[in-house]
Amino acid sequence: MTQSAIGPDIRELPSPNHDSRGEPPDIRPINMLVLHYTGMQNAQAALDRLCDPEARVSAHYLVEEDGTLWRLVPEARRAFHAGISCWQGEHNLNYLSIGVEIVNPGHEWGYRPFPEPQMAAVELLCRDILSRHRIPPDRVVGHSDIAPDRKSDPGELFDWPRLARAGIGLWPPPDAAAAHRRGRGVGVLQRTAALADLARIGYCLSPATEQVTLAAFQRRFRPARWDGLLDAETCGRLHAVRMAVEAAQAARQQRRRSRFN
Ligand SMILES: [Zn+2]
Repeated sequence: MTQSAIGPDIRELPSPNHDSRGEPPDIRPINMLVLHYTGMQNAQAALDRLCDPEARVSAHYLVEEDGTLWRLVPEARRAFHAGISCWQGEHNLNYLSIGVEIVNPGHEWGYRPFPEPQMAAVELLCRDILSRHRIPPDRVVGHSDIAPDRKSDPGELFDWPRLARAGIGLWPPPDAAAAHRRGRGVGVLQRTAALADLARIGYCLSPATEQVTLAAFQRRFRPARWDGLLDAETCGRLHAVRMAVEAAQAARQQRRRSRFN
């Protein structure tokens, strides 16, 4: 593992809440990055909780609103941040992911925009993590993407497009076809196609969680409205994101193939 570029600027606050990522041959490589907000009144309360052995929760990193960066759990260990979760058909995501907590009071305590110094630090940290682990863009997710029935973090104010411009995660360009479709109602066929797009992107769907899962998608990729209702705009975004995911996965396969040729 190469040395972390963020080394000197990071503060250490070891949390006891971690365990093994598994023993060989069952150990799986880190291939996922999960972003959270803390959802607590302030940074200190979040740090206290993430280090409380009774709470049994943690993350690998925490980023304060002024950009101060803490390491709580070494990346080689499994932190307890995702909980019951699912992405691209996989469960137990703590085993294969790195979790980053971003300080924000969240929807419960007064959700507010993520300040510039904080976003700059998040960007630097994520780039550093991605430089050391093979994490594909379609596996950089928010907590609400992988647990939409329980979680809404980091939420609709989080600047995913900015991160994508820095090479972190996906943000497809506006879909020209969506503009064309706008204004028409969403019929049964479009609905079926939209739910297929949602599943293809990675969201784990059941009839009971359809609306909250659509809301999670909207918070992330269409943050102007996240009521979980399927309209033409959401259908267009779903299609655009699906195409971006498939392009990323095809490029990955191509690289894998050329490595063996
Ligand atoms: Zn979370």
